[in-house]
Amino acid sequence: MSDLLGQEHITSVIQNAAAADKLAHAYLFYGPRGTGKTTLSRLIAKLANCQTRQDDAKFKAKGEPCNICTRCTEIDAGRGIDVIEIDAASNRGIDEIRSLREGIRLAPTSYPYKVFIIDETHMLTKEAFNALLKTLEEPPAHAILILATTEYEKVPATITSRTQRFHFRKHSVENIAKKLKSIAVEEKLDVTDDALEFIAALAEGSFRDAESLLQQVCSLDAKVDLATVERNIGKVGFSRTSELAALILNKDLKGSLAYVKEISDGGFNVVDLTKELIHYLRRVLTLRFNPDLEAELCKELTAKELETLKAHVQLVNSSTDQLINLLKALLTAYSQMRYSPFAAIPLEVTLIEHLQ
Ligand SMILES: [Zn+2]
Repeated sequence: MSDLLGQEHITSVIQNAAAADKLAHAYLFYGPRGTGKTTLSRLIAKLANCQTRQDDAKFKAKGEPCNICTRCTEIDAGRGIDVIEIDAASNRGIDEIRSLREGIRLAPTSYPYKVFIIDETHMLTKEAFNALLKTLEEPPAHAILILATTEYEKVPATITSRTQRFHFRKHSVENIAKKLKSIAVEEKLDVTDDALEFIAALAEGSFRDAESLLQQVCSLDAKVDLATVERNIGKVGFSRTSELAALILNKDLKGSLAYVKEISDGGFNVVDLTKELIHYLRRVLTLRFNPDLEAELCKELTAKELETLKAHVQLVNSSTDQLINLLKALLTAYSQMRYSPFAAIPLEVTLIEHLQ
């Protein structure tokens, strides 16, 4: 269930519906990868079919599955006989939707509800969407359809309008780091907190990506700290980007150039560094003009990182024009260096031009 951390706005609606025995027949879940769409789909399948809920009215009113009955455990393991998961990305779902249209009419084999979970719904062909639409127009009483997608706008309005829709938000860095920490403790991984925070930031809102990155990094080294992750990924974390930004904002040309050289000599990707620097300075600039953005930024950054960023905002109070010009120049440098055999040069030249 910890996959659903941060999606409480959705889980509570669904649990209330389940408590009142009013689950919908069609749902559409949309949002970025790894934000809990599959977990919530399975939660609905369990709510609809849990044996304990079926037998115990008092338990049913709680709006939770028991997670221990045979049906719950089967569904959790992806073996639920009447829970059919369809991946629309593979062969674009033509055969699957055809068999869904036929299969959905038949009564469930052993559960009260047949639950169809269609992943990557936006990948369906026009024909498959048409077939799906016919099913959505008159879903049988024993069926629940859950459509999941990362690209809401590619799903036809005729389909979306017939579903109950939920938007899944990106997970915050703090939440991802918290979850990674619990995995690290459970699996006795020797990994520092700042390394976990960096991995969490790299995952860009996805629990799944963060977990696989953690496993990858820990399989390479027995002891993992921030430097280990940076070395393995070839990218620098917030702290290094922020140190470089501090030198730049303090107009320390000599220090900035030395820092770029050090990072480049360390085998890190200077193009990525520039990209991170652009992101960083952009955050400084936007926060300078709109302090309300802090609420958004705290999803992408840890509390400590946000404090550092805010301290840097103070440095640009009187020189925003210079920062705007530097940002524009960095964007140009970034597009040049991506195709240049001398990746560091556009960055260095930009710094020299703007920090003198
Ligand atoms: Zn159960």
